Amino acid sequence: MSSHHFEHVALIGLGLIGSSLAHAMHRGGLAGKISGYARSPETRDRAMALGLVDTVHANAAEAVRGADLVIVCAPVGAFAAIGEEIGPAIAQGCIVTDVGSVKEPVFEALAPCLADGVSLIPGHPIAGTEQSGPDSGFAELFDGRWCILTPPDDVDEDAYERLANLWRACGSMVERMDAAHHDRVLAITSHLPHLIAYNIVGTAAELEEVTQSEVIKFSASGFRDFTRLAASDPTMWRDVFLANKDAVLEMLGCFTEDLQALQKIIRKGDGEALFNHFTNTRAIRRSIVDAGQDTALPNFGRMAATQAGAGEEEE
Ligand code: NAP
Repeated sequence: MSSHHFEHVALIGLGLIGSSLAHAMHRGGLAGKISGYARSPETRDRAMALGLVDTVHANAAEAVRGADLVIVCAPVGAFAAIGEEIGPAIAQGCIVTDVGSVKEPVFEALAPCLADGVSLIPGHPIAGTEQSGPDSGFAELFDGRWCILTPPDDVDEDAYERLANLWRACGSMVERMDAAHHDRVLAITSHLPHLIAYNIVGTAAELEEVTQSEVIKFSASGFRDFTRLAASDPTMWRDVFLANKDAVLEMLGCFTEDLQALQKIIRKGDGEALFNHFTNTRAIRRSIVDAGQDTALPNFGRMAATQAGAGEEEE
């Protein structure tokens, strides 16, 4: 009997996440065969040159033919069109999943395209970097990171376990969650921080009394940490905010109220309130380190990471 988790995995999209999955599956010998689809000839050529896939296709339907697992690794806004293209070509018994950063809209986009007998189990690895494209992937991306799976209530439990085990074999810890809950949790832990970063970097760039060269020169004072998030892929993040509009607007409302409260505290010169607030937030940072989701090294371990050539976490 084969030791592979799946005999034929089709990756639809071969950028950071798709290529990292290919590397992780190669590392663990998890797939008998990997086929891939990417839009551009450049990405298809790189995928073959890097040995990410066994076959590469310019047509997504061709890539999924005969696969027992399909993983959609494209921007969320492309899912409806991809679903229409691949739906008729997917074999009975196949599991279809994805890595998109928003989950309810993914289910709504893909479910109508799939036949009975195909299991749709959306997923989201909480791992990434600000890089894009097939050259940016690496096998260790998912090691020690959570992967959230959001199966429907009537999911085939065997299919769910097979997919969860693949993610575990790729290095992840797996959490099962309702799709709507996922979208609210990620709105505050990922989407809002990115929005704030996009906003502050834009504001700094437009300030007239501070020159651009000063913003760059003194960026190590805090600004530069926002610029990493603000350098994230524009297509991916456009689609995230369009798809998770309601949850993001809700969290943005809470954020704005809290920011106004801080503004009032500063105006009043209430040092004790500021100290208490900052003490609480420092404790949250400690909890993240204690949970193994970041390093306790100074400056996020930036020097050590540079020396080791390691990537930084995004989501
Ligand atoms: P990426 O590096 O930009 O790769 C995207 C891939 O999708 C590329 O192969 C691209 O093809 C293809 N693609 C782009 N637009 C498409 C379209 N309209 N139709 C068909 N294919 C299209 O992106 P990524 O970072 O891997 O992100 C992929 C998914 O993972 C997104 O849904 C994102 O929300 C999710 N995600 C990202 C992160 C992160 O930190 N980056 C983390 C977790 C989850 P070409 O190369 O040919 O253009």
